[in-house]
Amino acid sequence: MQTIGLTGGIASGKSTVSHMIRAKGARVIDADAIAKRLSVPGGSIHRAFVQHFPFSFFLPDGTMDRRRIGRFVFDRPKEKAWIDATCHPLIQAEAQSEMHEALRRKERVVVFDVPLLYEVGWDRLVDEVWLVYVPPAVQLARLMAREGNEEEEARARIAAQMPLDEKRVRADVILDNSGTPDELAAQFEAIWEERVHGQLP
Ligand code: ADP
Repeated sequence: MQTIGLTGGIASGKSTVSHMIRAKGARVIDADAIAKRLSVPGGSIHRAFVQHFPFSFFLPDGTMDRRRIGRFVFDRPKEKAWIDATCHPLIQAEAQSEMHEALRRKERVVVFDVPLLYEVGWDRLVDEVWLVYVPPAVQLARLMAREGNEEEEARARIAAQMPLDEKRVRADVILDNSGTPDELAAQFEAIWEERVHGQLP
């Protein structure tokens, strides 16, 4: 089985490419979706948070008070580190169990959609990394257009991630999304044909 890690930076176009991959019929294992699933009451992340944080960090329906937790960890690097060290292995374990399901079904390719792939070291778990890249000015403009953020806030959110130019040096495949959506789709088709379809027996 071929394993591909798909990553990008915030608003670089990763979700757009992820849809294109699903449209090919390939399984996409989505790290964000797994994190959400494990964070509802009864999920493993939720259980760990209940043990770690006080009662007041949860809403009356038992769900996490994300804003409260976010504010609390904002200037507490140790708490942030606890969250990362707790969540990432749980998410990876779940992703691996989805991959085993794909193996059982004899699927030929699995794509892991992971926003912070390099930051978390997930690149070491896949055969190759595909990066959806945009130059910094385009990233800023698309983020502001999508979320209606002020420039300062958008810049801060981008600065919190590893710069795309740094990821670009490390990636095996680059999808340059600085042009139109059609241009991105054409690049994707060529890369899929060459690196995935062309590899199938
Ligand atoms: P990500 O998943 O990396 O955050 P998205 O796929 O959601 O990025 O794309 C970010 C935003 O930019 C979305 O609003 C999307 O519609 C828009 N977008 C994506 N690709 C292009 C493009 N080539 N030209 C213009 N807008 C785009």
